[in-house]
Amino acid sequence: MKRSEARAAVAAAYRGLGRRGLIVGSAGNVSLRTRKGMLITPSGGDPDRAGSADMVSVTLDGVVTSDGTPSSEWAMHAAIYHAKPAVGCVVHTHADACTALAALNQDLPAFHYMIASFGGNGVRCAPYATFGTSRLAHDAVEALAGRSACLLANHGMIVHGRGVEDTVARAVLLETLCRQYLLALSAGAPRILTSQEMADAHERFKTYGPRQRPTHPPG
Ligand SMILES: [Zn+2]
Repeated sequence: MKRSEARAAVAAAYRGLGRRGLIVGSAGNVSLRTRKGMLITPSGGDPDRAGSADMVSVTLDGVVTSDGTPSSEWAMHAAIYHAKPAVGCVVHTHADACTALAALNQDLPAFHYMIASFGGNGVRCAPYATFGTSRLAHDAVEALAGRSACLLANHGMIVHGRGVEDTVARAVLLETLCRQYLLALSAGAPRILTSQEMADAHERFKTYGPRQRPTHPPG
């Protein structure tokens, strides 16, 4: 992908997440791995107005190599790229349902078989740490072990994927599942699928049609 195409792709994903209500104001960021590090949305950005030129190039060690100031969460994105060589895109948002569940400091359990699409039998919630810190970056990477998503306690969520499109789709799916789980919780005690039922779901996904087949987390 050319540099201009990468910039356009990150900006389009940022705007798309804004249109869907998953990023409100500056409460979220998108990055894409590049040859020299990553392209990331700017600090204090606004998805409604973001254009290609607003995206910021930064190395995984934090050296800014373009105009602009990178998102304050650049270190969290960089830590994920360091830890997971196959990851190409990271999305972080404060989407409503994800953040509501994260405020309860709860994992998202296997109340639905689609949880398997994130690579395990549940989506972990990383413990609370101050935004923009290396502690948060470290805890997020731990919570993402073997998974392509995690919640961040009293903060929001992270998903990663290979490219922009699959990662944005994963963000939408995680928000949908968190909303459905909270709805179920408000009506009673959801039954959690057994480990055998989830093993069957993981197995089934391996042979399901390409549009439905989840891509298990790279890295
Ligand atoms: Zn955040």
